[in-house]
Amino acid sequence: MCLLTTSLLDLPLTETVRKNLEKAQKKREEKRKKTKEKRDAVREEEKRQQEAKRRQDPNAKPCPSCGNWDHQRSTSKNCPKRKPKKREQTGLTRQSTVKATLDGTCNNEILKNTIKDTVLKCRNLRHTASLFVNYLTVRRLSSGEPMPLLTQSFFYNVFSQLVGQGQQADQWIKELYLEFQTLLPTARNLNFHHDTQMITEMARQYSTASHQHISSNFEKRTVDYFFLRLSNQSDTWHLATASVKDRRSVAKYMYQRAAGLQADWPELEDTTISHAMIDVRTFTLQLGPTPITEASLSGRANLYMPWMATVLAYMERRVLVQEPVPQRYASKQYVYRNLKEVSCDIASSCNIFLFVDSICRS
Ligand SMILES: [Zn+2]
Repeated sequence: MCLLTTSLLDLPLTETVRKNLEKAQKKREEKRKKTKEKRDAVREEEKRQQEAKRRQDPNAKPCPSCGNWDHQRSTSKNCPKRKPKKREQTGLTRQSTVKATLDGTCNNEILKNTIKDTVLKCRNLRHTASLFVNYLTVRRLSSGEPMPLLTQSFFYNVFSQLVGQGQQADQWIKELYLEFQTLLPTARNLNFHHDTQMITEMARQYSTASHQHISSNFEKRTVDYFFLRLSNQSDTWHLATASVKDRRSVAKYMYQRAAGLQADWPELEDTTISHAMIDVRTFTLQLGPTPITEASLSGRANLYMPWMATVLAYMERRVLVQEPVPQRYASKQYVYRNLKEVSCDIASSCNIFLFVDSICRS
């Protein structure tokens, strides 16, 4: 029992173990802080937009408990006079799931069939809803229209179209749904449950996941996109004389510059690459509001979606990445790729090392 309340660091430890533990703890704290910053940025932006929208709406009223405009009533998390829910008051917040097969838990045939039917309907709804939101996003972005904030209520209105509800949705959502409907296979059972509780849950998950997706993939995808453009022979950005490593460094530099971050020109093997020319190219790029940080990506994920769409569309093409001159040594990656092809049985294990040795020396 005592161990539970004592920190690991209070135990007698060697200096190295203690240092490593402290390092890990610091890392964990930083990560937690970053996550909180992201979450706060999302909430702040939503509050701001909600307030602006509600002030415009002639039917909206301020919260009767606190008088603020960014929420409707005291049940909202944004209300300073919010009363905690019963679950929060008791402190019993843990949820548990026990998994079991249907046959093992139920022997009533009628009930079993009803459950099976329900699961199928739910799965169909979820699948079709995912297809629709993808279709809607691609159509919206490819026509150059802005995406609205990716809030729970946005997804709720989108998904509700499937069950003939969501009258509050914007006109463009309704129109795209009519279009989407004609594309569905006729065999698909569109007889979904009209209960919207499941839609509420799906909307909540989608809202969180979409912010998460943008903030964790934006930088990586953009750097990859720059790198591919610099490597693509048929692209005007192609750096014919630069090594793959140099192109990677330039791509990273371009991202930092275009994102409005601190950017230092990298040390390159190929000194003919013009710093000024790269800067000019970067200057014309529109990634979204800068400086781009994890918090800004989470808070206003919708504003970065047009750029993400451009990047992903380009990356669907196949681009061959090659060194300007054939290499005369084996890179770590080359050794790794070839090693995977070598059979690993015990009899030949000594051959592997010979093989590695011969690659490294050639
Ligand atoms: Zn309030």
